Amino acid sequence: MDTVERFVRWASDSKRQNKGMEAVCLRILKDAGFEVNKVSLGQLRGHYLEQDGSRTGETFAINSSCPFKAMNGREDNYTATGWLDSLFRLAWGLTRDEITNKEIIRKIRFEIERSIPMKPIVLTDIGDQLLEYPPDRNIMGGNLVDHTRDSKKMELCVGLHAVCQGWIDREPVTQTHDALICRSCHLRVPFPKELKTYGNLRQHLRKFNAAA
Ligand SMILES: [Zn+2]
Repeated sequence: MDTVERFVRWASDSKRQNKGMEAVCLRILKDAGFEVNKVSLGQLRGHYLEQDGSRTGETFAINSSCPFKAMNGREDNYTATGWLDSLFRLAWGLTRDEITNKEIIRKIRFEIERSIPMKPIVLTDIGDQLLEYPPDRNIMGGNLVDHTRDSKKMELCVGLHAVCQGWIDREPVTQTHDALICRSCHLRVPFPKELKTYGNLRQHLRKFNAAA
C-alpha cells in the first residue's frame, strides 16, 4: 500500500488508529508542495475577524476533523494544517459515496498534484523571483484550490515579488515591449509584449531559470 492508499484507509476508518500516520501525512504535505518538517497531534485555532480586521475574540478550529497539525521547525503551519484537514474530510466523505476505492484514491492524488505551487520564475541576474498570485482560500473548507501553472496567461497583476512581497503588474512600456513592474520596490523587467503565459516568460528568461 502506498502513502495515498494508507491515508484514504485511515481517514475513512471510524475506529482509526493514529499511530504511524504522522509520517504518512508529512509525506503527503511535502508531495503537495508545503514547507513542513513535522506533523503531530494537536489542534490549531483561527480567529474570527471584524470587518476592520480586528479580532472578535471568537475562534474556530483550523483542523476540525484531522487530528494532526503541521509544523515547520517550531512554527505551526496554519495553511498546511487547514489543507490537510480538508483532504482528510474529502477522503472521509468520498468513502460514504458510492464510488470505488480506486476512484477515491485518484481524486486524492489529483488534489495533492493540484496543491503544488508554481515554481518561482527568476527575473534578474541577481536572482529576483516572481511568485504566484496567492490562491483564494475561504474559511469553510476552501483549502483545496488551483495554483498558477506555466500554461496560464499572465493577467495585469501577475504575482508577487519574493523579496519585498510587492505586487508585480504587467504594463505596456514601448511599442514592442511590456514590463513587469513591482508596485513596492519598482523593480522593472521588460520583455517582448507577445509573451502570453508564465511558461513563455520562464522560457524567455531561461538563462536565469536554467536549473528549472
Ligand atoms: Zn519588489
